Amino acid sequence: MCAVVGVYGSENAAKIAYYALFAMQHRGQESSGISTADGEKITLIKDRGLVTEVFDESAFEVLKGRCAIGHNRYSTAGKDSVLDAQPVFARYLLGEISVAHNGNLVNKDEVRRHLIERGAIFQTEMDTENIVHLIAKSDKDHLVDRIKDMLGKIEGAYCLVIQSRSKMFVIRDRFGIRPLSLGRLPDGGWIVASETCALDLVDATFVRDVRPGEMLIFEEGKEPVSEQIFEPDYRPCAFEYIYFARPDSIIDGKNVYETRVKMGRNLAKEQPADVDLVLPVPDSGVAAAMGFAEGLGVRFEMGIVRNHYVGRTFIEPTQQIRDLKVKLKLSPIRYLIEGKRVAIVDDSLVRGTTSRQIVRMLRQAGAREVHMRIAAPEIKFPCRYGIDTPTQAELISTRYTPEEIAGYIGANSVRFLSIDGLTDALGRDRNYSLVSFDGNYFAGGCAESTDCSGRSGV
Ligand code: AMP
Repeated sequence: MCAVVGVYGSENAAKIAYYALFAMQHRGQESSGISTADGEKITLIKDRGLVTEVFDESAFEVLKGRCAIGHNRYSTAGKDSVLDAQPVFARYLLGEISVAHNGNLVNKDEVRRHLIERGAIFQTEMDTENIVHLIAKSDKDHLVDRIKDMLGKIEGAYCLVIQSRSKMFVIRDRFGIRPLSLGRLPDGGWIVASETCALDLVDATFVRDVRPGEMLIFEEGKEPVSEQIFEPDYRPCAFEYIYFARPDSIIDGKNVYETRVKMGRNLAKEQPADVDLVLPVPDSGVAAAMGFAEGLGVRFEMGIVRNHYVGRTFIEPTQQIRDLKVKLKLSPIRYLIEGKRVAIVDDSLVRGTTSRQIVRMLRQAGAREVHMRIAAPEIKFPCRYGIDTPTQAELISTRYTPEEIAGYIGANSVRFLSIDGLTDALGRDRNYSLVSFDGNYFAGGCAESTDCSGRSGV
C-alpha cells in the first residue's frame, strides 16, 4: 500500500506535493520521494524514512518546476531499501521519465522474466520498474502511445502518475481498486492524490475521482485531456474503507468515517454482546466501535490509551518484537475497566497478535468478560491488489473458527461482521473488491503465489 500524488501547473508544485504526502503518511512510512519537471529536466529526491525526514528546506531549492509527482511507500518486512523508494526515474530514447505507482501488478514476475530474457537489467524487486522498462522498450514514437502499449501488458491494481520533462499522465486501472482523486489548486494548478485528505490540506477543491480505466493527460497551457483507455468494471477496495484510508477522506463519493460507523452499527445488529462498556482498539477501531456502541445502546469509552510515538505494529519483522510493540503502544484505563464486561472493537483481525495482547491487557486491568467484535469479515485470502497481507497460512481465520480464535486470544467470544453486513455498510450501488474475504481474484493473481496471473479464484 502506498500513496501517490501529482501536481501540475503550479509554481509551488514540489511544496504542494510534500504537504500532500504529509497528509497521506498513514499510507506508507517506509520511504518517500518527489520528482519535479521544469520542461528541461527531471529532478528527484527520495530516501528511506518519513516525509519530514526525507525533505528539508534545501530539497525545495533543487526541486524546481511546475510539475511534481510524489510517493510514500509501505511494504512488509524485508524490503526496506532505498532502492525500493519511488518515484522511479529513468533516461530512455525519448528523454526522461519518472513513475509513481500505488497498487500491485499481478503479472509482474511473468513480465519481468520476459524482459530479462530480452536483456533488460533490473535494480529493484519493484513492479514499478517493469512499467518503466515497458515504456522504454515500446517502439512507438510518442510517450502517450508507449504508455498505452505498457498498459496493455500489465495486469492488476494500479494508480499511476507518470511525469516526462513537460507532461504528466495519470492512470487508474479499470477496476478502480485503489483510490485516486482529482482537485484544483487555488492558483489554478491541478492535483491528483490517493486520498482527498491530501487535497484538503493544500486547499484544493475536489473536482472528481479519476475514473476506472481512465487516463488524464496534463500539458502546459491546456485543460487536462481525458481518455477512457479500458472499459470500466468498478470494484473499489473494501479494505480502504475498513482500515487503510484516513477517516476524513471521501473515496468514490463515500466518507470513510461514516462507512466505518455503519460497519459498527451492522455488527451490533448481527453480533450483539451483553456488555457494560464498548471500547475501541485505538485508533483503527474507533469509528466502528462508536457505531457498535450506538447500535447496542451501550456506553462507549476510550478505555485503552494509545502511545502515538510508537509506529505501526504490523510491519515489525519478528513475532517477539511485534508482541512487545503492542504493549508499548496500548495501555488500558483500569479505573474504567475493572469488574466490567467489555466489548472490544477492532476494524480487522489479521494474525491475531494485537487482539491477543489486548485481551490479556484487559484481563489484567480487571475486566470480568472480554468480547471481541471485528467490524470486517474473516480475512481468509491474501490481497494481491496492494494491501500488504501476510501469507495465507499466517492469516488466523484461514486456520481457526471464531470459537477457536476466542480460545487462542483468551476472549469470551470473537465475532465478525458478515460479508453482507459489510456490503450493506459500503452501499449496494456498486461492486467492491472483497478479495481478502471471498477470494475472488477478479483482476488476476491467486492466494498461494503471485506468479499465477490470469487465473481467477483459488
Ligand atoms: P493482527 O494483530 O495481526 O491481527 O492485526 C490486526 C491489526 O492490524 C488491526 O488493528 C488492524 O487495524 C491492523 N491491520 C490490518 N491490516 C493491516 C495492514 N495491511 N497493515 C497494517 N496494519 C493492518
